[in-house]
Amino acid sequence: MQTVLAILLSLAFGWAAIPLRLSPGPTKSSASIVPATTTQVILLGTGTPFPDPASSGPATAVVVGRRVLLFDAGPGVMRRLKAANLPISGPEALFITHLHSDHTLGYADLILTSWVMRRRAPFPVYGPPGLRRMTNHLLAAYSEDIHIRENGLEPEATGGYRVDVHEIRRGVVYDKDGVRVTAIVVQHGAWPDAFAYRIDTADRSIVISGDTRPSDELVKAAQGVDILIHEVYSAARLKPEDRPGGQDWPRYCREYHTSDVELGALAVRIQPKLLILDHMIRMGASDEELLSGVRAGGYNDRVVVGKDLDKF
Ligand SMILES: [Zn+2]
Ligand SMILES: [Zn+2]
Repeated sequence: MQTVLAILLSLAFGWAAIPLRLSPGPTKSSASIVPATTTQVILLGTGTPFPDPASSGPATAVVVGRRVLLFDAGPGVMRRLKAANLPISGPEALFITHLHSDHTLGYADLILTSWVMRRRAPFPVYGPPGLRRMTNHLLAAYSEDIHIRENGLEPEATGGYRVDVHEIRRGVVYDKDGVRVTAIVVQHGAWPDAFAYRIDTADRSIVISGDTRPSDELVKAAQGVDILIHEVYSAARLKPEDRPGGQDWPRYCREYHTSDVELGALAVRIQPKLLILDHMIRMGASDEELLSGVRAGGYNDRVVVGKDLDKF
């Protein structure tokens, strides 16, 4: 009876009804039926380059009904997609914030594993200049694998590994069937091109900061959004580190990233309905320390520390 009900519900509301009903997963959100137009944010990876088993590499899914838009492809992205009960045969589209390895180490996994998991057609990938070269190099690196899979006894579709790369500038980069994605130029140290993204759907507005120091352009583009997902480091814990180059660590953080106190001040100007801390460079700081840093910046409204597989 449960199965029949789930199938009926899935016909009415799309695939989301089945995984949510039959396999709630390890998240803290309550199981509910998600109509085809409802937008949900799933944090797939809230980590940094540090290989913390609890925090996968940067990746966020924006799920609209049964459509999955993916933002960044950090290491672990395929396993987190599976853990979140999302399709593993490729997203509707992938958006890369910048080409730092922690945000792209899962890109080859996403391209190749989605193919092995029965992807047949290219999906579009949007990101900064250099993305095409990276994609071509990755495909060249795996050319032996691709050759064997296409010509051996494995039943992979010929050419099914391909993606459509779009190197972008600021502005609207994706606008399809009620989902619009806008690239926001941000400053991430010496990177010539780094983007935040704003996603607008029928029921929600979301901004994902990517990696950035405090950005006026982001403040302007994010005014009053429903959800602001922003990177952060602990201001209180920032100090030179005892390692080669460690003297420059505080300067690096200030030029490339946003402190919890700075984020609090940004959030006061943005007034999101919910602020989610992401990509946390903790340097030992607890959740409570990061939150008190945000409050020290003046922000006293809704804020949560993002955890992998949280749903909003
Ligand atoms: Zn970065
Ligand atoms: Zn990063």
